[in-house]
Amino acid sequence: MNDPIISIKDLSFTYASDEEEGSGPAIAGLDLDIEAGSFVAIVGRNGSGKSTLAKNLNALLLPSGGAVCVAGMRTDDEDRLWDIRKTVGMVFQNPDNQLVSSVVEDDVAFGPENLGVDPAEIRKRVDAALNAVSMYEHRKKGPHLLSGGQKQRVAIAGVLAMEPECIVFDEPTAMLDPSGRKEIMEIIESLHREGKTVVLITHFMDEAARADRVVVMNRGKIMMDGTPREVFSHAEELSGLNLELPFAAELAAMLRRDGLDVPADIIDEEGLADWLCASK
Ligand code: ADP
Ligand code: MG
Repeated sequence: MNDPIISIKDLSFTYASDEEEGSGPAIAGLDLDIEAGSFVAIVGRNGSGKSTLAKNLNALLLPSGGAVCVAGMRTDDEDRLWDIRKTVGMVFQNPDNQLVSSVVEDDVAFGPENLGVDPAEIRKRVDAALNAVSMYEHRKKGPHLLSGGQKQRVAIAGVLAMEPECIVFDEPTAMLDPSGRKEIMEIIESLHREGKTVVLITHFMDEAARADRVVVMNRGKIMMDGTPREVFSHAEELSGLNLELPFAAELAAMLRRDGLDVPADIIDEEGLADWLCASK
């Protein structure tokens, strides 16, 4: 394993309002190392603590117990706050909440401007970031003229312009139509190929199946952690956690019930098609 870019030790987090009501912690004693350059998907039912974990990864929330280290910096070290935010960028579900300017390119420049990057360098970064998400031609437009998928691409460009080593996506496709969703997944996969560390929180199991590693959360803890093949071969445990399987794995399970000897580790359409053709 490469060095972890994010190292989480015995993390607990309790919201102040939950403490008053006596409800439990949102994160309860969680350990997780995220390898530099890896693509990790995090899945789990609503309320399992995924977003709370995400916000602990770049000091939007600070641990109630335990510690989160980003590239060797503890997130509760106030002096390192901007270095931490520069290292780990965050993309959320609703692009409307992430766009702040009335012109696309100004929006993308907002992050590096706040970091005090010099103007010539900002220009370069904005153009590169808009090209990376195929939005350069729309750079002079108002964000309100864009589709949901395009707005989310601009939000991603805004994060890219800060040149983070790691990007955490919290359900980035949840509000998009299928074509917008596909575009965002393609961008996420290309960022990973180019060497970024990617953490993708999603409730689409087909998206999670494309990661190197799938972490399953429940009640603020990690229930499973492995390759997509390993995790999605535990259909019963997942269904006990109210989680589905990727479409191809679901279909493979149906074929098995009908008497075909489909292996349990088939999780994508390509694998299923290959197996069916080979077993004709
Ligand atoms: P997920 O993203 O997996 O749906 P969250 O991290 O949003 O889960 O929520 C985990 C738990 O923390 C839930 O019980 C939720 O009700 C609670 N929670 C989330 N955000 C807040 C908040 N701002 N204030 C109080 N409780 C919260
Ligand atoms: Mg959430």
